[in-house]
Amino acid sequence: MATVVIKPRRAKPFYFRHPWVFSGAIQRIEGDFAEGDLVDVADADGKFIGRGFINSRSQIVVRLLTWDRDEPVDRGFFERRVAAARALREDVLGLAGPDDACRLIFSESDGLPGLIVDRYGAWLVIQVASVGMSLRLEMVLDVLEQALHPAGIYRRTIEGAAEREGLPVVNAVARGQEPPDAIRVKIDGLDFLANVKHGQKTGLYLDQRANRRVVARLASGRSVFDGFTYTGGFAMAAVRGGAKSVVAVDSSPQAIEAGRRNAELNGLASIEFVQADVIETLRGHARSGRRFDLVILDPPKLARSSAHVRRASARYRELNAAALRGLGEGGLLVTFSCSQHVHEDAFESFVNEAACEAGRVVQTLERLGQAPDHPVIASCPETRYLKGLVCRSL
Ligand code: SAH
Repeated sequence: MATVVIKPRRAKPFYFRHPWVFSGAIQRIEGDFAEGDLVDVADADGKFIGRGFINSRSQIVVRLLTWDRDEPVDRGFFERRVAAARALREDVLGLAGPDDACRLIFSESDGLPGLIVDRYGAWLVIQVASVGMSLRLEMVLDVLEQALHPAGIYRRTIEGAAEREGLPVVNAVARGQEPPDAIRVKIDGLDFLANVKHGQKTGLYLDQRANRRVVARLASGRSVFDGFTYTGGFAMAAVRGGAKSVVAVDSSPQAIEAGRRNAELNGLASIEFVQADVIETLRGHARSGRRFDLVILDPPKLARSSAHVRRASARYRELNAAALRGLGEGGLLVTFSCSQHVHEDAFESFVNEAACEAGRVVQTLERLGQAPDHPVIASCPETRYLKGLVCRSL
């Protein structure tokens, strides 16, 4: 097994279990290796730190899997990690009903860097984002089948991540039956049809589950604008929470169509779905004098890398300013950023700048994050990607 030797004074994060070894921290690599092999990582004095998968073509050269020299990374290792991930979802979070949808394995956060597995009822959807994981895919699929007995496992590829790792883009059945175009699942009492083969992400935004409850709690008696609704999750939660009226906007015709179908499935016909651009719609309402009591903004990832944060910041300001202009006095803004590279403090300052631009003052009432089946691991702050703020506009 090759050994990746870390530069002097650069080993501390890895002793504290940060799982990503970037090329800049590496002094040299001793021994031969092939991409995706297991390698040991050692400090400049040759002391063992951990073991992980290597990919010298990726910015993240090693993804660490274990800090225990005596722990082999074999089938038993994967079985133990899958069992621990499952115990969190089933025993702690209570996400084990037959129609439940949840994220079962969240990569680094579950000790399996480069592997994401979502459960949609009887089906699993798997995403592989590292060469090491993709070389062990058949074994991983065996472990998942044995532990969870799914009707089928479908593989999706996160495109940007696949290119960066040099992985092929695969969207196909990996095991068992092909999932239907619409899998019916229940999330917090609401029915959703998930298209795991063609939908965004793996079909649904499972990471917003807890935040939809926040919206349901705040929506009572309010007129609500759900910007970037996708399949209608926040809009439906708002109606369930007693909203006076709900407008749900998305630019994608497929999203609007799916949102309408979900609303129908739940008997929530009052939602007004609009296929349009969020900013233009907000500005149109502001011009016509229509005001909302609660605006939700959940835009797609606006900063793909740290190089894009500046451009994204202008977009966050513009969006949030338009939302604040659409709120009446004392109105609530629930605003999100799912860009890992936009940190919470920065996001808060973009919202404040938006408020200044709109001539408002905002009070932050709550800070939100991703649902707990997408846990954040303390050793890797980068696993926290979804940030949200509940603000009151004065
Ligand atoms: N809130 C959703 C997830 C939103 S994902 C949920 O809880 O499930 C982001 C959505 O924004 C996508 O559906 C995408 O189609 C939509 N979108 C992207 N740019 C847009 C724009 N300019 N105006 C309206 N919708 C947009």
